[in-house]
Amino acid sequence: MSRAWQLYGAAGGVVIAVYYAVLHYAPEAALAQTALYTSAGLGCMACLLVAAARHRAVRVPMLLFAASFLAAAWADIAFYSAALHGEPPYPGPPDVGYLLQYPLEAAALMLLVRRRTPRHDRATLIDAAIVAAGTGFLTYVFIIAPTYMNSGGGLTRLVSLAYPLGDLAVAVVTARLLLGAGRRPVALHLFAVYMALVSYADGTYLMQTLNGTYQAGNFLDAFWMGAAVCLGAAVLHPSVPRLAERAASATPDAGPARLGVLALAATVAPLTSLGLYLRHADPQVPVASITCTVMFLLVIARMAGLVSAQRHTAVTDELTGLRTRRAFQTALRRTARPGARVGVLLIDVDHFKQVNDTLGHHGGDIVLAEVAERLRARSRPGDLVARYGGEEFAILLPGAGPEDLAAVAERLRAGVAGAPIPLPDGGEVTVTISVGGADLHTTTHDLMLAADRALYQSKDAGRDRYTPAVAVVSAGA
Ligand code: GH3
Ligand code: MG
Ligand code: MG
Repeated sequence: MSRAWQLYGAAGGVVIAVYYAVLHYAPEAALAQTALYTSAGLGCMACLLVAAARHRAVRVPMLLFAASFLAAAWADIAFYSAALHGEPPYPGPPDVGYLLQYPLEAAALMLLVRRRTPRHDRATLIDAAIVAAGTGFLTYVFIIAPTYMNSGGGLTRLVSLAYPLGDLAVAVVTARLLLGAGRRPVALHLFAVYMALVSYADGTYLMQTLNGTYQAGNFLDAFWMGAAVCLGAAVLHPSVPRLAERAASATPDAGPARLGVLALAATVAPLTSLGLYLRHADPQVPVASITCTVMFLLVIARMAGLVSAQRHTAVTDELTGLRTRRAFQTALRRTARPGARVGVLLIDVDHFKQVNDTLGHHGGDIVLAEVAERLRARSRPGDLVARYGGEEFAILLPGAGPEDLAAVAERLRAGVAGAPIPLPDGGEVTVTISVGGADLHTTTHDLMLAADRALYQSKDAGRDRYTPAVAVVSAGA
């Protein structure tokens, strides 16, 4: 069964070859040609139905895709049977079927995107918008604008414009799917090939109809049939349920491939305008300017996101989510000015080596993360809680005097020691902390040094307690 997708792909290749053989050797056998051509789409539809029946995870998107192929097959049959009695009217009933494909495919793709994306993924949305602006510009210049000029008016113009707009919409949702985070199983790669073949064939078809070079049965049929075969193979591939797997993190890295795609999309409008200008064609200045402006704003929005993510990473400890030591020191320098009122608490987990020895390093990490969470939850809003070292934490309390420090420290101590920490294996462990505190009222010395000395007094006195630095200062005096 796992080889079914390869067999299907090979059979599809044979059907395409037979189709072209019939076109060439039996040009009058219209029925056989239509049957062969539609068999590619109907075969793909059967594969989609098989995938929908087999895999719950992708059932609805597969059914939507199948509906899109059904609409196209009906339109093909309606078109070819109308063509038997002369030139079919345009727009005609088959156009309803062809145009229905776009919303059905877009809905299927959007469902896949939603299932794969864990949270809001603003970065990928911006990336997709950049690709959309670039593709939109090309579509506008080479297809939409000339179609608008050539298509007369009324319904004909509306239907003629609906095709490129539908292609554009599907291309944008596909870009969002392919640029988003998540696994890239073989099925997704085959899927990307399907989209590339369809986009190329649809775009070329529209251009050929515009300049009058399109001929029924030309090489484009191989692309459309090949695309259907490719999608059929994609959904028969065993990896197809993983298309809907939720990604671990929302935003993918800005790797070279992504940057290449974005650079290409961002330069499409200015370079195309330049090319048109050099060929003495209309460089489409207004549309190019609008596209470039939108592109700049999108790129800047994307940069702002990257910078703020970078800043967040720089000040955030990975294991605990608390601030880093560096962020703490920066804040301390900014706050602890002469005459200001500010306190610090320095916290060390007691006998943590034993915790590591009994639970292992990974178990130790879980305990550390829980201690951090308890410290954070019991601190006052506006206080800065940081991971100061391995299992040491520091809290900056602007405006705090000795009584505030003692009260907060006792709350933290009780919060950590008061309830055991549950472990993933079902067990639990209780840990205690020792705390030292100093504020600008009790010492004019280095605040951190004073808090550190106080902390070691807590350790010496038996741990699981708070010692204020005032004891250190008076002892030294
Ligand atoms: P004391 O009560 O005197 O503080 O005893 P202790 O065993 O806690 O001694 P100390 O504070 O010197 O020990 C720190 C230990 O914490 C040593 C180190 O292996 C462990 N540790 C430091 N960083 C991490 C970490 O990120 N994860 C884990 N699991 N352990 C860490
Ligand atoms: Mg320590
Ligand atoms: Mg310790």
